[in-house]
Amino acid sequence: MQLIRGHLIEAKRFGEPDITENGYIAVEGGVIKGVYADLPEAYAGAPVTDYSDRLVLQGFCDMHLHASQFPMLGMGMDLPLLDWLRTYTFKTEARFADEAYARRVYRRFADALVSNGTTRVCAFSSIHADATLILMEELERAGVSGFVGKVNMDRNGGECEETLEDSKRGTLRWLDACGRFSSVRPILTPRFTPSCSDGMLAWLGALARERGLFVQSHLSENRAEIELVKRLHPDCAQYWQTYEKYGLFSDHTIMAHCVHSDEREQDALIRHGVLCAHCPDSNVNICSGFAPVRRMAARGVWVALGSDIAGGAELPMLRVMTACIRASKARAVLTGGADAFLTVGEAYYLATSAGARYFGDEPGFAPGNRLHAVVIDDSGMPEGVRPLTVKERFERAAYLSNERSVAAVYGNGKRIK
Ligand SMILES: [Zn+2]
Repeated sequence: MQLIRGHLIEAKRFGEPDITENGYIAVEGGVIKGVYADLPEAYAGAPVTDYSDRLVLQGFCDMHLHASQFPMLGMGMDLPLLDWLRTYTFKTEARFADEAYARRVYRRFADALVSNGTTRVCAFSSIHADATLILMEELERAGVSGFVGKVNMDRNGGECEETLEDSKRGTLRWLDACGRFSSVRPILTPRFTPSCSDGMLAWLGALARERGLFVQSHLSENRAEIELVKRLHPDCAQYWQTYEKYGLFSDHTIMAHCVHSDEREQDALIRHGVLCAHCPDSNVNICSGFAPVRRMAARGVWVALGSDIAGGAELPMLRVMTACIRASKARAVLTGGADAFLTVGEAYYLATSAGARYFGDEPGFAPGNRLHAVVIDDSGMPEGVRPLTVKERFERAAYLSNERSVAAVYGNGKRIK
């Protein structure tokens, strides 16, 4: 038994966080046993890691990001999606044919995730099976868990295009080599409908069914993309149906963006148990739009957050949280207040518990969850005119924290920073 002490901030619901000041988390074998305001007698002799006046947040879940775009963070931000892909993205991803390059980049990438408190991810790699395995190794080494996918794309792929046969061979070889990982698992990753032939989508759908694999892709990010999908699949009334008809739109499928999904498409997300990975920083950077996140969450769509680097230029999920609040405020302004904006507590829920559910967790520091936690030291932030409440400090930390504020990180039950 081990105890962690500090001001505990839990996102138990889509709303205000639960705060336990000077509380304890009891952990045994990496698994949370309980959260206590006062130390139970039975635990009196257990060792305590005392973070005293610091804030103990839940570990962050980044539910959509492109690890292979880490080298191009902050680049090409003046281009719309399809031009951005052609000018920068495919050229960058093509570099991952070089395994030494992949090793260098993915090592720094994994370390950057941990430094910023991201303990679980659902990541795209590139088309390369070997580089994808290197990414999985580096995440596991750093203590990050989650899902990683080798990208499949056999059309409109520029430098990254594969033939269908190469893509099948590479995917099977990658899947066969994934057995050695314990906390990072494979997920099928058709890039998006415009990048995949019908044969590719059909093959991946059959593979998902045969092997019981989850799927991640993109949906309704940008208007030009949606028009392109309509031309490619005239038989489908809506974009989501291009995945559904091949068995790629089901429980635990992750669809990034859904910026322009209307109520019918949102209903399909709900009906099929699909997770919408909302990526606000990316949606603003590439001028994709402002997703009606609050409205979607209120309607019952399973929404969580993604950094979507490098469309998003911020890897830290605390930055993505505040980007999400700002984007929702822009939408509130544009709709004359018809769409309310997100509060810090709501954004925190989307960045933590909503994603953690994907991995089977209950919300907050629930008993039975493995410990994923981030300790924030806000002592370097400006001195207030009066002592701040823990809730005020939490809200300020969401805006002002940086890598240096992250004093400790626990991933999958172990201390990893
Ligand atoms: Zn993406």
